[in-house]
Amino acid sequence: MTAGAGEDEGRIMPDHPEHVVVVGAGLGGVRTVEQLRARGHQGRITLIGAEEHPPYDRPPLSKQILTRDWEPERAVLRDRAGLDGLGVSVRLGTRAVGLHGSTVELSDGSGVTGDAVVLATGAAARRLPGQPDGVAVLRTLDDALALRDAFGSARSLLVVGAGFIGAEAAWAARRLGLDVTVLEAVPVPCERVLGRGVGALAARLFTDAGVDLRCGSAITRFADEHTVELADGTTVSADVVLVGIGATPDLTWLDGAGLETGDGLACEGNGRVVGTSGVWALGDMAAWWDPARGRFHRHEHWTSAVDQVTAVVCDLLGEERSAPVVPYVWSDQFGLKIQVLGRTDLADEVVPLDGAGLRGGPVKGTIVGYLADGVLAGVVGFGAPAKVARYRALVGRSPAATDSAGAVGERLG
Ligand SMILES: Cc1cc2nc3c(=O)[nH]c(=O)nc-3n(C[C@H](O)[C@H](O)[C@H](O)COP(=O)(O)OP(=O)(O)OC[C@H]3O[C@@H](n4cnc5c(N)ncnc54)[C@H](O)[C@@H]3O)c2cc1C
Repeated sequence: MTAGAGEDEGRIMPDHPEHVVVVGAGLGGVRTVEQLRARGHQGRITLIGAEEHPPYDRPPLSKQILTRDWEPERAVLRDRAGLDGLGVSVRLGTRAVGLHGSTVELSDGSGVTGDAVVLATGAAARRLPGQPDGVAVLRTLDDALALRDAFGSARSLLVVGAGFIGAEAAWAARRLGLDVTVLEAVPVPCERVLGRGVGALAARLFTDAGVDLRCGSAITRFADEHTVELADGTTVSADVVLVGIGATPDLTWLDGAGLETGDGLACEGNGRVVGTSGVWALGDMAAWWDPARGRFHRHEHWTSAVDQVTAVVCDLLGEERSAPVVPYVWSDQFGLKIQVLGRTDLADEVVPLDGAGLRGGPVKGTIVGYLADGVLAGVVGFGAPAKVARYRALVGRSPAATDSAGAVGERLG
C-alpha cells in the first residue's frame, strides 16, 4: 500500500491508513504510536526523531534531572525494547527536512511516505538577540545535563525570565545551594497565565526561597556569557546564566510545503493541517483552531499534547472523539505544585476559593477562581492538589452552580 518517496502527492488517503509516519519522537510522537496500537491499528508505523536519545519526557528536565534526584534514564518514555514491542520502525538521529504531500524527506537524503503523517516536532528554546553560546537554555536532555554539570561548580545563577521553567530552574539551584537572581521584564512572574494579583503570590514563592527576584527588569544586552546589562545601565553577573523565555516551534523545515506557519502550524480543530490531506500536527508545534478564541492557538503543555494525540488518533482511525477535557497545566516550584485548570486568560474577575494567600496569608493552600462573564473559566491552586481536583468538574459552570456547590468564596472587591 505504501508508495516510494515522492510517488503519492495528492493521493486520497484510504479510510484506514496502512502506514502512519510520525515525525518527532518526543511526548506527542511516542503517545501517538502508543495510542495507534492501543486503538487497534495493525499497519506499519514509522517514528522519526531528530535526537539520538531514546524518546524522553521533558518536565523532569527542569525538576528531578537538574537536582540530580533522577538520572536521565528515569525520564525515558520508551526505550528501544519498548518501541520494538509496539512494532514501530524507529529512526532516531534523523531529522525531517521537508514535506511533500505525505512524503517526509529526511536528513540522510532518504524519504518515507505514509498513508497518514503525524507531525509532532515540538519547539525550540527561544533565545535573546546577541545571546552568547555560553548562556544556557533548557529544552532538551542535553541542555539539562549541561546545566546540571554547570551547577556542580557554580556559586551563582542568573535566570532571565520568571516563567514556569525559569522558576523551576531557580528552585533547583536554590536547593543545590546557589545564589539565584531572576530577572523578569513584566511586573510579576507568569502574568499572562496568572494575572497581576495572583502573579504577586508566585513572586512571594521566589523571595521566600531566597531568590533575588527583580521584576520590571528588561535586559538590554549581554556584556558576555556571565553578565547582562539592564535598561538603567546597571549590570548583573553570575557564574551561570540561563535564558528561560519560552519556546517557539522551528518550522523552517516546512518551508516550501505551502503551509500556514505563523506561531505554530495551522490546524483544524481535529489536528488536520490546514491545506493538506492526510497530515495532522499536534503538541508544541501545532496551532489548532480554537472556536472560543476565534483564532488558531498553540498550547505548550504536557497535558494538551496528550489530549491532542487522542483527538488526532481518533480522527485518523475514523473513531468518535470523546468530549474535550478541561485544559490543565502544572509546575513544581519552591516545594509546591502550581496547577492551572481551564482558561485563566478569559477572566474578568478573580475570586479566592480557598486559603489565605490573596489576603497576605500563606501561599501554600491558596486556590483562586477566574470568572469570565460569571462563569468559572479557570482555577489556579498553589500546593493544594487534592482540593484543586475537586474544582475540575466546576470549570465552565456559572457562579450559581459553583456557589451552590460551595466552591466560590468571598469575591474580591
Ligand atoms: C524543561 C521543560 C519542563 C517542562 N515542564 C512542564 C510541566 O511541568 N508541565 C507541563 O504541562 N508542561 C511542561 N513542559 C512542556 C511539555 O514538556 C511539552 O509541552 C511537551 O513535551 C510537548 O510535546 P511535543 O511532542 O509537542 O514536543 P517534544 O516533547 O519537544 O518532542 C518533539 C520532538 O521532535 C523532535 N524534532 C524536532 N524537529 C524535528 C525534525 N525536523 N525531525 C524529526 N524530529 C524533530 C525533537 O527533537 C523532540 O524530541 C516542559 C517543557 C520543558 C522543555
